[in-house]
Amino acid sequence: MQIATHIALGLAMAASGLQVHWHQSTALGTQTAGRLEQGVRLPAQGRTFFTWDPVLRRAPNRAWRRFGTDRLVRVVLLVARRYHAAHPRAARMAIGDLSRPHGGDFGPQYGYIGHASHQNGLDVDVYYPRADGRELAPRWASEIDRGLSQELVNRFLAAGAQVIFVGPNTGLTGPPGRVQALVQHDNHLHVRLPL
Ligand SMILES: [Zn+2]
Repeated sequence: MQIATHIALGLAMAASGLQVHWHQSTALGTQTAGRLEQGVRLPAQGRTFFTWDPVLRRAPNRAWRRFGTDRLVRVVLLVARRYHAAHPRAARMAIGDLSRPHGGDFGPQYGYIGHASHQNGLDVDVYYPRADGRELAPRWASEIDRGLSQELVNRFLAAGAQVIFVGPNTGLTGPPGRVQALVQHDNHLHVRLPL
């Protein structure tokens, strides 16, 4: 990320009063077999986003499901800020699971179907904006605003995502290899940053 982006993001976060305890994080291993050192916790909500618990199906997401590398948290906040600036009257961006406080297994024992990845602070789930504009996660592809959802995909690609998984029924597209259709992603996109 460029210096100017860091400065702009820092100013925006200061203005919004977000409490983020920044420190340098380390992603160990891989996204599917790894751990997270010195993870940064994404706040429960802010002016430009809210968090959603995929198991309890309510906002905010529980704190222990909201840890990522400082790099991932910066990307999430940057995209949320830019999306909100472009659509100030739309629902805030809905963020789901990142990683556990020290990463590692985030499988089914942590609720619902769990995650095969999300192990080293480089993966995050983001719910598609709903067509009805409500601030809650959609359940099906038929409930999403396809235009706004595609915009989020594009913004995360521009912010440096290595790969984004989208649901096969969403109609969302992107560069082959970087945007991939995957079952169980009809209500959220999964963003992965590179190692
Ligand atoms: Zn995911």
